[in-house]
Amino acid sequence: MKKPTTILVWIPGDQLLAEHPVIEQAIAQVGADGVRVLLIESQQRALRLPYHRQKIVLLFSAMRHYADHLRQRGINVDYIHEASFSAAIVTVVAQHHPGAVWMMQSAEFRTRRAQQRLEDTLPVPVRLFANTQFLVGEHNPFPSVPAGKRVVMEPFYRAMRTHFGVLMTAEGGPAGGRWNYDEDNRKPLPRGLTPPALPHFVPDVITREVLTQVNSLPRLTGTAEGFGHAVTHEQAQAALDDFIAHRLPWFGDYEDAMSAEHDTLFHSVLSPYLNIGLLTPMQLIRAAERAFQDGLAPLNAAEGFVRQVLGWREYIYWQYWRQMPDLLQANDWDAQRGMPAMFWTGETDMACLRHVTTRLLRTGYSHHIERLMLICNFCLLAGVHPLAVSEWFLSMYLDAYEWVVLPNVIGMGLNADGGRTATKPYIASASYIRRMSNYCRDCHFKPDARTGPQACPFNLLYWNFVITNEDRLRQNPRSGKAVLGLRHLSADERAVVQEQAADVLSKLEVYENPLSWLK
Ligand code: SF4
Repeated sequence: MKKPTTILVWIPGDQLLAEHPVIEQAIAQVGADGVRVLLIESQQRALRLPYHRQKIVLLFSAMRHYADHLRQRGINVDYIHEASFSAAIVTVVAQHHPGAVWMMQSAEFRTRRAQQRLEDTLPVPVRLFANTQFLVGEHNPFPSVPAGKRVVMEPFYRAMRTHFGVLMTAEGGPAGGRWNYDEDNRKPLPRGLTPPALPHFVPDVITREVLTQVNSLPRLTGTAEGFGHAVTHEQAQAALDDFIAHRLPWFGDYEDAMSAEHDTLFHSVLSPYLNIGLLTPMQLIRAAERAFQDGLAPLNAAEGFVRQVLGWREYIYWQYWRQMPDLLQANDWDAQRGMPAMFWTGETDMACLRHVTTRLLRTGYSHHIERLMLICNFCLLAGVHPLAVSEWFLSMYLDAYEWVVLPNVIGMGLNADGGRTATKPYIASASYIRRMSNYCRDCHFKPDARTGPQACPFNLLYWNFVITNEDRLRQNPRSGKAVLGLRHLSADERAVVQEQAADVLSKLEVYENPLSWLK
């Protein structure tokens, strides 16, 4: 095939890599003058779900800054406002007649399928390059596991650490002699320990323009007031440096803790940048490893952080591609309820959910235990449909994209994928929430009440779920503890639990879910 002399490179908004491999290869082949980069800002797509305003501001502002970054390198950039990505590409091809269209595979299933279909609609050759935003693309530790077979995270994580040589000894074992310091990382936050604030990046002219635009859009969620996220590679690197210096040392100890007073505790809050390409996974991993090697962070902190990035994030992406498109149909507990309205409004007497959802509306963020043990726990116990929960996550969280939400929420959080991602349902009563947070302190409900007018809804729904699914849970040795606890409930108490749980569920106001992202 004749080599093209001009190349159009489409960069989706979640691929804003500082050194984008497709752009670099295009320049190497035809020189910077022969390359046009296309960025498509789709306001219609931004309105497909009731997204959090800060999520859209972050995405649009980072895209516009990326366009400037490329122009400063002397690269031609077309920054187009268009509803449909495909239509925009067709228009630009008709206008500039490039010899070829190049792009990196999307991280998401349907966008990748649309990229493949472009080959049939465009009059020029389309070349799709492998996605480099995930390390599992470089090394897949389990390339030929049958579709239905369960692979848990731990062997995957160990294989990734070994292959990439992260926190390993010269002899090939894990640093410190253990692979996993999870048991050391479950401390509640002690009184008097105040986590440092996140860095705040004052919005520049570009971000202020985006803020004005987004604030005028209808149907979005949350507030953009106080927006101070990183929107350039330099700012994202500064956010990473700030985490390593000021929060990583305590990250391990308190990574599962929850607090009514502190928004982000010692978490990095780097996933919104990582997931749009402002940072790369290896940047984060090596920074945490260096901090340990230099004596600036203990091993349980560095390992805990590396496990999140090299273990969990990569494993989730691997599970997504392994299970799509079937994952969209997964509903193993036959949950049929819509997403309760309180998750959209923050209006509830349950102090834990009120704190987390009102903070989410203000910031677009909550950490992994709040997502797993409060939100998904409640939704699993209450029988909320997996796609309704996924839609809510996609809308609300700054870092939520389909490749992470579907396996994380449907697989891990709701245990709806036939146990391919998690070996047991992550369900808990109020005692876990009380142990790991101070939410129960000012709650209308009582965490130690199993029944009665002030019984915590988590207790009612937890025991109701265990009673209803007793036989199934009994078959899973990892859920045995939950079923064993039933011995302490008399037949009368079981009946009261079920009656009161039904009452709680009947009073849950539910929003209709548009599920428009499925189209
Ligand atoms: Fe949440 Fe129950 Fe504690 Fe209230 S008592 S904060 S509802 S766990």
